[in-house]
Amino acid sequence: MKPEYQHILHEALINKEDSLESLKSLKKQANHQLVESLKSCHQEVFSKIDCLACANCCKTSPPLVTNKDIKRIAQHLKMTPKLFERKYVIEDINGEKSFSQVPCFFLQEDNRCSIYEVRPEACRNYPHTDEDAYFIRTSLNLNNTLICPAAFLILKKIKSITDLK
Ligand code: SF4
Ligand code: SF4
Repeated sequence: MKPEYQHILHEALINKEDSLESLKSLKKQANHQLVESLKSCHQEVFSKIDCLACANCCKTSPPLVTNKDIKRIAQHLKMTPKLFERKYVIEDINGEKSFSQVPCFFLQEDNRCSIYEVRPEACRNYPHTDEDAYFIRTSLNLNNTLICPAAFLILKKIKSITDLK
């Protein structure tokens, strides 16, 4: 990972408690205008972040996969969904399915995804920082600031807009 991104994640770790407090305050303030501001912050941060110089999500955090994802990816790999599941997926006690290994099976040496066009929805949407439900997902967001440099920068930006300390 690019050293600059490692520094951002280090800062996120040091500021974990502050981030939690900020996310709790943001949850109380959430409204349509704040969601719009969040989306602008997301666009701005991701316009400067190079995911191919990071790939930390793919290296550390197994994505959830739906049955629809499984069917689509299995078809792409010319496998049956059943075989695909047996090879790549685990199911937890709540019935949630995810890839069974990190770094991800499909992450290549150059940080590219070998199934990019058909990757799981969870990968497409990660780190979920442009979604209307952002402000109600306090623990997920906190966790993502420790994995994803962009998620931490987006939180910093939205905090500065709302004048949170
Ligand atoms: S499927 Fe692709 S995008 Fe998703 S975690 Fe694996 S390598 Fe990353
Ligand atoms: S989404 Fe976040 S963690 Fe994943 S590669 Fe991009 S910056 Fe890194």
